[in-house]
Amino acid sequence: MALIVQRPLGTADVTPSEINKWYTVEQVAQDTASSFGFKEIRFPTFESTDLFLRSVGETTDVVQKEMYSVMAKESKFTLKPEGTAGTIRAVMQNGMLNDALPQKVFYITPCFRHEKPEAGRLREFHQFGAEMIGSASPAADAEMISMADSLLKSLGLKNIELNINSIGCPSCRAGYHKALRDYFEEKKSDLCDTCLGRLEKNPMRILDCKSPVCSEIAKEAPVISDYLCEECSNHFTQLKEFLDSMNISYKVNPKIVRGLDYYTKTVFEFITTDIGSQGTVCGGGRYDGLIEELGGSYTPALGFAAGIERLIMTMEKQNCDFMEPNKTDIYIVPMGQRAIVNSAVLAGRLREEGYTAEYDLMNRSLKAQMKYANKIGAAFVLVLGDNEIESKTAKLKNMETGSETEIKLDDSFAENFGTVFMASIFEKDEANDIFSDLTK
Ligand code: ATP
Ligand code: MG
Repeated sequence: MALIVQRPLGTADVTPSEINKWYTVEQVAQDTASSFGFKEIRFPTFESTDLFLRSVGETTDVVQKEMYSVMAKESKFTLKPEGTAGTIRAVMQNGMLNDALPQKVFYITPCFRHEKPEAGRLREFHQFGAEMIGSASPAADAEMISMADSLLKSLGLKNIELNINSIGCPSCRAGYHKALRDYFEEKKSDLCDTCLGRLEKNPMRILDCKSPVCSEIAKEAPVISDYLCEECSNHFTQLKEFLDSMNISYKVNPKIVRGLDYYTKTVFEFITTDIGSQGTVCGGGRYDGLIEELGGSYTPALGFAAGIERLIMTMEKQNCDFMEPNKTDIYIVPMGQRAIVNSAVLAGRLREEGYTAEYDLMNRSLKAQMKYANKIGAAFVLVLGDNEIESKTAKLKNMETGSETEIKLDDSFAENFGTVFMASIFEKDEANDIFSDLTK
């Protein structure tokens, strides 16, 4: 097929045959968030570019290389590259900081970054994220990590390593920046152009550069752990104690700095080796300075985001279970024009009772309709011709067992169907019970 316009590079379609994977992750994410007391928040797909310059940071890869921005009339807008900035802007703008704290919100949202597409790296991808606003306590850090951990476990994922680090606060960073500048200054001639600019403005960003030469140089760079102030150091120690008590295993990884400028103190990533080089399925941390940076009064906060595509990839790789796609309970096979009208009425009654009902809309032969019913996995089929309409009775065929039951087509039709349908489920469960007893 010569399709004239194809989808843009780095974007993906989700067809109906794959949608149950998305429903599974979205449902488990919503349930997990809800069990931790988080409520959903929704915010625009695009925001003023300035929001991301101020929050994500002007020297980050995201801002310098990856944003989709447009000039619309007099204003500059950007498709959101991540969810935290929009969430915090919305929380502030809607006066939620005046309500009881902590505020706990979650979102499921598309994000846009102009990156080089590869497995696990798209230009439009989706994040499940959660943010907690108001708590400075390391207990809150442990709670967020525990929520992400619980999400991954509920999805059935295994072999995912939690890496944690502390990247300190602005006061410990002053000394660290100086140490980094001294270190990189000597290797200046090998750094990429972007990192040369970062050397003055924000040397920590060099640690996150994707150029092979810069990342090789960064390997031997001083680590932030040696420069933490007492408060940040205590905070990190307490977080580790919480995680130990909560039985959440972790690795302290001083190399984790995260790609966004707003982080302070705790940062963490959940990493798998099962999906190739893009193995970070979830990342997050504390961002105590962000609200002030956006014009509010100092309010500590923290959060994380998980990439839905990467979660699904890992689940596929690990053969995790996905929700079953919804099947048709009954397919009505009308023979002739009069029967089509009757099928429409019967299907309507069944849907009111909560069943999934379909009937032929293609004027197909009996044989072709049976084949179609089989293909869509209908549990029951009801053939409806002139005889059935006259006698107000028809045969309901159980497609799994092949058995047929006569059913009345009067007012009690939906009820009668329900009885047969429930009986079929009950019989199946009973059979399963007997089977599992036998195999014990
Ligand atoms: P990475 O180091 O993989 O580039 P990141 O640090 O840029 O990730 P975050 O901004 O922390 O990513 O986003 C949170 C999560 O969103 C990541 O852990 C990942 O699962 C997912 N993610 C980020 N960028 C992409 C992308 N381009 N395509 C698919 N998923 C992504
Ligand atoms: Mg990235």
